[in-house]
Amino acid sequence: MSEVRTRFAPSPTGFMHVGNLRTALYAWLLARSEGGKFILRIEDTDQARYVENAVDVIYATLKSAGLEHDEGPDKDGGFGPYIQSERKHLYREYAEKLVESGNAYYCFCGKCEEESDEEVHVASELCPCAVMDAAEAAAKAASGVPHVIRQRIDRSKVSTFTDAVFGEIQIENKVLDDQILLKQDNMPTYNFANVIDDHLMNITHVVRGSEYLSSTPKYNLLYEAFGWEIPTYVHLPLIMGRDAEGNVSKLSKRHGSVSFENLVSEGYLPEAIVNYIALLGWSPKSDREIFTLAELGEAFRITGLNKSPAVFDYDKLRWMNSEYIKALPAEKFAAAAKPFAGIAGTVLEEKWEMIAALLHGRTEVLSAIPEKIGFLLEQPEFGVELFNHKKSKSDPENSRTDLPELRSRLAALEVWNAENISGVLSSFAAEKEIKAGRPMWQVRIAVSGCAVTPGGPGEIMEILGKTESLRRIDASLQKLQA
Ligand code: GLU
Repeated sequence: MSEVRTRFAPSPTGFMHVGNLRTALYAWLLARSEGGKFILRIEDTDQARYVENAVDVIYATLKSAGLEHDEGPDKDGGFGPYIQSERKHLYREYAEKLVESGNAYYCFCGKCEEESDEEVHVASELCPCAVMDAAEAAAKAASGVPHVIRQRIDRSKVSTFTDAVFGEIQIENKVLDDQILLKQDNMPTYNFANVIDDHLMNITHVVRGSEYLSSTPKYNLLYEAFGWEIPTYVHLPLIMGRDAEGNVSKLSKRHGSVSFENLVSEGYLPEAIVNYIALLGWSPKSDREIFTLAELGEAFRITGLNKSPAVFDYDKLRWMNSEYIKALPAEKFAAAAKPFAGIAGTVLEEKWEMIAALLHGRTEVLSAIPEKIGFLLEQPEFGVELFNHKKSKSDPENSRTDLPELRSRLAALEVWNAENISGVLSSFAAEKEIKAGRPMWQVRIAVSGCAVTPGGPGEIMEILGKTESLRRIDASLQKLQA
């Protein structure tokens, strides 16, 4: 068998929808699992939609996701150029071959430029250009009359093809439109360019979203007209989202972030996103869920792809992200989390490693960090009822009597660290024959003002430092005495 060659053919829209990333991932996995090549091709023929820097977003996303391409605009593999607008000169020849063989025709109707690619053109029966004498049409086109080239569809037939995921598909040609192949300015439409390029680039497997399933018969008619081999189609199921009421619809912004960049800026690790996305439409033989990219490359098989729509579950992604976070080495976590912490230029910056150690096992998404450590920068307003804690038998009353003594014992400490601070609290509890949890709760509330904190009183006070810790205890005592 010839070498497997897959491609990712994004249109540069300026952001990477998770559905597009999944397409890239599966195309990459397919190439890797077969020892083949993964090609990046930029489909920018729709210049009206052109967005500046959009190609950079594509490079950056693929890099961050770990999906290295073997060929692309920045990596010549002998099949370039890999940017469709730079290939503009080569499509006319192919379109004219189709005109010669009767599979396409010149159309002079004029309204074509405004027509969107999707819009169904009047059936060829109704278009005078479709029945125009071939020699006359060719002469008119050659004399410079503006025209487009349209595919001529034989509407009496039925098209059948097999998709690797969706199985056998049958579509009656009468629903197909005489789509534009080449626009007035010689720019091909996506529908034409993708066939020509997939052929010229020796693509063996076309991996793309299922929204292209219904157009595939038109592409097949083109392959047949040229006498070219049709690639294996691998159409991927839709990605859906679930709203608060439980209704499922196509994944969109109202369900949550839908682009890779946004998920990363919300504090999801690229590796976790990629792992999660891998499972949206593909399942391994086992019920295992955590896979590195290399492991996915080994486990991936087309037969594991599923045609039923996949629901993007943000809770599941959070869980997976927390697993990836836990698995990071301490320094890597500290480095990844720091930009999210909001402590740059504050006194906490030099304590970052210690803070990060407290957060490491307690973080699902990095963007949740500022909320978790905000109390370290500034103690929030809180009411004395927070001193109530059933299990440790702490309450505002005993806090008012215990805290002054605890404060003076803490003030006497010469070496201010978590271990010594905890020692003060536990010996206090032992002497008073009370639960160790009581002074711990009292002091933790006094210095943090929060019922839930990452780390216990010893760690928190070590981070805050002696002066600030004692200042906060004093302020809380004033509250209790008021
Ligand atoms: N340029 C198309 C898109 O961005 C690619 C479709 C295909 O892979 O054939 O959706």
